[in-house]
Amino acid sequence: MVAAPAVSTQTDWFALADQALAGEIISRAASHRLLSAPDPELLEQLAAAYRVRRHYWGNRVRLHFLLNAQSGLCPEDCHYCSQSKISTADIEKYPFLAQEKILAAAERAYTLKAGTFCLVISGRSPSERVFEQVLETVHEVKARYPMKLCACLGLLNDDQTRRLAEAGVDRVNHNLNTSEAHHSDICTTHTFKDRMATLKAVQSAGITTCSGGIFGMGESHDDIIDMALTLRQLNVTSVPLNFLIPIPGTPFEGRQQLTPTQCLRILCLFRLLLPSQEIRIAGGREVQLRQLQPLGLYAANSIFIGDYLTTPGQAARADFEMIRDAGFVLEGQMGEK
Ligand code: SF4
Repeated sequence: MVAAPAVSTQTDWFALADQALAGEIISRAASHRLLSAPDPELLEQLAAAYRVRRHYWGNRVRLHFLLNAQSGLCPEDCHYCSQSKISTADIEKYPFLAQEKILAAAERAYTLKAGTFCLVISGRSPSERVFEQVLETVHEVKARYPMKLCACLGLLNDDQTRRLAEAGVDRVNHNLNTSEAHHSDICTTHTFKDRMATLKAVQSAGITTCSGGIFGMGESHDDIIDMALTLRQLNVTSVPLNFLIPIPGTPFEGRQQLTPTQCLRILCLFRLLLPSQEIRIAGGREVQLRQLQPLGLYAANSIFIGDYLTTPGQAARADFEMIRDAGFVLEGQMGEK
């Protein structure tokens, strides 16, 4: 008797890309298969994610530049963060920077061809004094440099988001960080609902939202999928995906649950679940993707150029080389093609 040929159990990753392009939500079961697939399937997964990425973004890479305009001294206890009240990490701590320092950073962002200048402050939410300084600074940066401005200021209410809109802020970042179910394992001083309320306040003011997460904090595959589906439901515009840098002195010091290939599978999942969104490989790119960084560009269409909030990024020259060598092109400033 002739044995029946073995039936392949491999998922058709390209069929998932077609589903994503047709506007369908890929199933939870398929999302699980994607995150659990063995490494030999990774190139096909990346090719499927690239089909979707290419449809919406071509070969373009969008650059963002981060400035930590107020560092440390935060009363919150986000376990991944070196600036929290429970962190003993050896970081620089300073109040809101003088305007000329912020303008110098904006100049550097512009010179590095960033399309978006991200002004970030530590803290639960800005004091009225700092908030007014932020508004004045936004005005100056916008008047001098043709870049989008994204503000990341912590929890915000309707009145604050309305004033940010009036000041000309293009976008507000507020990360969900993880799923609702996992949130209390990474922070106890504010809730997932608080974060959702801020995103709703931003959207009500007519400002587009930037919101993503951090991986490597003990989350399950369900947590990763839940967060992606929540971001899809919120229709966020921009999605920064961070890979935990287990900074010494933070509660998550020494945690290492990621591999470069797992990071790539996460990027592929987000591209398939958030097909047209701007997906950015954010903090931890150099630490967790290591030599596989350029492969991430097949799923994501954006990176940060320069340093992160309290940790250095790789040299801008290396990023430009990586983009060029992998056959991608820089997007023009202000996001034009
Ligand atoms: S992530 Fe923001 S709110 Fe949380 S501890 Fe760090 S600076 Fe504070």
